[in-house]
Amino acid sequence: MLKIYNTYSRSLEIFQSIKPDQVGFYACGPTVYDEAHIGNFRTYISQDLFRRVLEHLGYVVTHVVNITDVGHLTDDEDQGEDKMEKGARRLGKSVWEVSKEYLDIFQKDWRSLDLLEPTVWCKATDYIQEQIEVIQAIESKGWSYQTKDGIYFDTQKCPDYGIMSGLKIKDILAGARVDMGEKRSSTDFALWKFSPESPKRQMEWPSPWGVGFPGWHIECTAMSSKYLGHYFDLHGGGQDHIPIHHTNEIAQSQGAFGTSLAKYWIHTCFLNLKNEKMSKSLGNFVTLRTIKDKGFTAQEFKWFCLQAHYRKELIFSWESLKSSQISLQRLKPFMGQDLKEYPKDDPDLKEFMQHLCEDFHTPKALAVLWKVIDKPNAQICIPAMLKILGITQKTSHSQKVIEMSSEIKEQCRLRLEAKLHKNWKESDRLRDDLMSQGYEVSDTTFPHFILKKEGTIVWSTEGYDQSSS
Ligand code: AMP
Ligand code: ZN
Repeated sequence: MLKIYNTYSRSLEIFQSIKPDQVGFYACGPTVYDEAHIGNFRTYISQDLFRRVLEHLGYVVTHVVNITDVGHLTDDEDQGEDKMEKGARRLGKSVWEVSKEYLDIFQKDWRSLDLLEPTVWCKATDYIQEQIEVIQAIESKGWSYQTKDGIYFDTQKCPDYGIMSGLKIKDILAGARVDMGEKRSSTDFALWKFSPESPKRQMEWPSPWGVGFPGWHIECTAMSSKYLGHYFDLHGGGQDHIPIHHTNEIAQSQGAFGTSLAKYWIHTCFLNLKNEKMSKSLGNFVTLRTIKDKGFTAQEFKWFCLQAHYRKELIFSWESLKSSQISLQRLKPFMGQDLKEYPKDDPDLKEFMQHLCEDFHTPKALAVLWKVIDKPNAQICIPAMLKILGITQKTSHSQKVIEMSSEIKEQCRLRLEAKLHKNWKESDRLRDDLMSQGYEVSDTTFPHFILKKEGTIVWSTEGYDQSSS
């Protein structure tokens, strides 16, 4: 018996699929204007675990993950600029090139974490017609209105708007301090936006209301219902999606189909850096690339994430990642083994599964794994446990880390100082000197840099405090 904490009812519920033995699972995917950070991947790692547990229990899971390549504005409340168009300007590339480039990186990262391949990857720009049709259904119910900049959802028409975040609409309105423009309520949100005169958008489409582009939330209602129906089993995302994005997906579905879209809504808590949510906009993030550059593997990061329950905030630090690396080393002999027979009657394995069936409680499940490690049944039990957790590969060894001398460190520090004072002559001299000693210095965004020797990273200040290296 699987129990899941359903954000919709704010309670732990026994999971019962809508159709026997089948689960429709939709997960909100990345906005591909930049590289994803490891906070984003914490959410995908938890969703991979949900799917693996469901499959282990015998369900056939249809897993749909969307790619947002249009309509997500810099402010989730429909203000600001389209992240994609802004990203393209920053990089001097077309929006389509940016989308392709970051989607490629994202999928490579996904695979390096050994996350199960979704049944469907769907990109918002490939489903413009479907989005228009959902907006038309909302319109024909009278739950939308037009302003000079687009078509908006009228949240006052939706009787239980905000039900999932536990807020009553009048409370949301009382607390709102947003620029309303022509919106009737601050909670109303764009379904379709007309193209502005300037700057000219690269992505725009004709529609029954005029040339423009879809709002961010409509893509998820349109694509999830296309593949999974108007009411499906499971919908996931990070906790930040509860008050706006998922609240609005539900409202749209109530307008268009008369359903709340999904039966169970499941949200992963944040990965934080020093007590703050890891995010692009705050500028405090680490990517999987940095993790690998620092000599860790993607799998070690996955193992780090599994130490915490998905509904608890998790603080990232290099020290904790190091501990995860060391603990995973102990499990290397059990990895990648062929499981000829699954020891389903083993009491330890049963206990392990009971914890995973209690809202995917990985810390308790891992405690059982460590208890088994010195027992005679470890040889058959631990490979089975690792397989269920998705720790399956015998992955490459961590990179060799070359120690560097304190003189070289000092030279790096002086070079940064020279750059800070715009003393380019001195900073170039120090760089040339480092090069003559066999080092390669690549600047990423100042003051971050990567120092390599013989192709191996020896020091990188990218994304973390220099003092921790
Ligand atoms: P985005 O690309 O911003 O749409 O985010 C992709 C996914 O990552 C969404 O499900 C977000 O809710 C989730 N997410 C964003 N930041 C974090 C974080 N710091 N920790 C965990 N999940 C996050
Ligand atoms: Zn979504």
